[in-house]
Amino acid sequence: MNLKWNLDALYTDFDAQYEDDLKALKELIQDFDYFSINELSCNTEAILFKYIELNEKINTLSSKLYAFPALINSADTKNEKAEKYLDIIEQLLTQLTAPLVRFKRWLKDIDQLELLAEKNHKIKDNLFHLNEYKKETHYLLSDGEEVLISKLRLTGGEAWSKLHGKLTSNLMVSLRIEGTEKEIPLSEARNLAYDKDPKIRKHAYEQELKSYEKIEDAIAMSISSIKREADFTNGFRGYKSSLEKTLMDSRLSSDTLQAMLNAMKKYLPEFRKYLKKKGESLGHKKGLPFYDLFAPIGESNKTYTYDEAQRIIIDHYASFSPSLMEFAKKAFEQNWIDVEPREGKKGGAFCFNLPFINESRILTNFTGSFSNVSTLAHELGHGYHGQIIAEESPLNRSYPMPLAETASILCETIVMNNLLQTLETSEALYVLENSLTTSTQVIVDILSRYIFESELFDKSSESSLSSKQLQEIMLKAQKEAYGDALDHNTLHPYMWINKPHYYSPELHYYNFPYAFGLLYAKGLFAQFLKDKDVFVKKYDQMLRETGKNTIENVAKMMDIDVTKEDFWIDSLEIIKKEIDQFCELIDKIKTEK
Ligand SMILES: [Zn+2]
Repeated sequence: MNLKWNLDALYTDFDAQYEDDLKALKELIQDFDYFSINELSCNTEAILFKYIELNEKINTLSSKLYAFPALINSADTKNEKAEKYLDIIEQLLTQLTAPLVRFKRWLKDIDQLELLAEKNHKIKDNLFHLNEYKKETHYLLSDGEEVLISKLRLTGGEAWSKLHGKLTSNLMVSLRIEGTEKEIPLSEARNLAYDKDPKIRKHAYEQELKSYEKIEDAIAMSISSIKREADFTNGFRGYKSSLEKTLMDSRLSSDTLQAMLNAMKKYLPEFRKYLKKKGESLGHKKGLPFYDLFAPIGESNKTYTYDEAQRIIIDHYASFSPSLMEFAKKAFEQNWIDVEPREGKKGGAFCFNLPFINESRILTNFTGSFSNVSTLAHELGHGYHGQIIAEESPLNRSYPMPLAETASILCETIVMNNLLQTLETSEALYVLENSLTTSTQVIVDILSRYIFESELFDKSSESSLSSKQLQEIMLKAQKEAYGDALDHNTLHPYMWINKPHYYSPELHYYNFPYAFGLLYAKGLFAQFLKDKDVFVKKYDQMLRETGKNTIENVAKMMDIDVTKEDFWIDSLEIIKKEIDQFCELIDKIKTEK
C-alpha cells in the first residue's frame, strides 16, 4: 500500500510540460489584459462570453500550476524548487487584479444581464457571479487607487501578518519537566494542554503566558495595524464597517448572523454546565481553569490501522449514500492521500480539491488514534463536496467560508456517530468529551473571539492598542462567553496572539463561520436521521448550489430557514443532549467508584 499521494495527474516534475503551461498562463494573462483595455467596447454579449471563457482557461491552468508546488511543499516543506514556483505563481496572479478591475468597472453600467442570460446559456450559468461583480463595483476605487492599495498591502497588512507568523512560529517556551529544563516551540507547548498529567498542563500554560512577554509589543502593533488598515480601506470604499464587508463576502445576511448568535447565547448555560462538570471531575471547585479546557477525560487506548480506518469509513459512508462510498473508495484506491507524519511534512490535515481533473488530494498525519479516523472522514467530506462542485463552471466553484465545512462535518458526524456505539464506557466517555471540547471551542470560544474582534475594531479606530489594552478586551470577552464556568483567575489574556485568524489582511471576523459550519452540519444531520431517502436526494443538489447562491437560498433547498432562531436552536439541542449524556456518564463512574 502506498502511503504517499500520487501527483502524476498534475505533473511529474517541474519539467518542460510545467514550463510550457507556465508560458501559456502568462500569455493568457496578457490576453486578459489586452481584452480589458481594448475590447470592452464591442457587443455586450460577445464581451461577456469572452470574459467567461478567458476566466475558465486562466482558472484551470493557474489552479493546476499552483496546486503542484503547493502540494509538494506541504508534504516536504524543505523542497526549494516547490517554494520557488509557488512564489512565481503567486506573483503572476497579482497581475490579474488590474484587468479584472477594468472588467468589473465596465460591467457596472450593463443593465440587461438577465435578458442576455435568457439568450445565452454561458451567461445564464454565470449570472450569479456577474451580478455579484456588479454589486462589488459600488465599492471599487479608481484604477490607480486599487493598484496602490494592493501594492501597499504587501508592505502593510501582509507584512504585519508575516511578522506575526514569524514571531509566533519561532517563539520558544521554557519548561521544567522532571527536573530538566528545556525549550520547546510554542505549538508544542500548547499541545501539552492535552497531556494526561495535570501538573504538566498547568506548567505549560503558565510558561506559555510568560513566553508571550518577549513578543507581545510587536504582535499588538501587528494586530492593531491589520484591523486599522482594513477599517480604513473598507471605509474608503464605502462599506459601513468591516463586518458589513465580511457578511457580503460570505453571502450571508446580518439577520442570519444575529439569529445564530442569539441562539448561541441562549445555550451558554448548557455549555457552562458541561464545563463545570468537567471542572469538578478534575477536582476544581471555582470553575475550570483555562489550562484544563482540553484535559482528557476517560481513557483512549484503542488504535486503528490505516486499513481499518479505510474500511470503517467506506462502511459508514455506504450507510449514507452509494455515491459517497464510491468517492471514498476511489480516493483510497488511487492514492489521493498522503497518510503518515514525516520529517519536513506539514502538521494537521487538509483537503485540496482539484476540480479541473475532478480529483482531490488529502494530507493527514495519521498515527491510528480515534481522532485520526475522524479527521480522515472529515477531509474526505471536503473532497466529496469538491467532486460535486467540479461539474460546475470555475466561477461557480468557490463557496463562502460558512458553507465550507458543511460536507466535511456532516461526513465526520456520520462516521463518528456509528463508531461511538462500538466503544466501551471509558472509551465512549473519552470520545464524547472530545466532541464536547470541540463544540465548546466552536460555540463558546468562537463567541468570545467574535466579541473580542468587534471591540478590537471599535477601539483601534483611533489609535493602535497596547498589549495591555488587548489583554483587557480579551479577558472581558472570555468572561462574557464562559461566565462562571471558567475560573476567572486563570483565563487566557493572550489568546489574540496565538490564533492566526486575526491576522489575515483580507478576511475579518474569521470566527463565526466555524460556528455556522458546525451548527449547520448538525442541523443537516438531524434532518438526515428523520428521513434518509428524501435528504440524500436533496443533499447533492444543495452542495452544487453552494458556489452560486446566497447562504439563505442554499439552506432553503433543504427547507431550512437560517434567518430564524429555531433552526439554530434545533442544532444546539443536539449538543445539549451530548452534554446531558456526558454528565450522566460522569455521575455513573462516580457512583461506581
Ligand atoms: Zn474542514
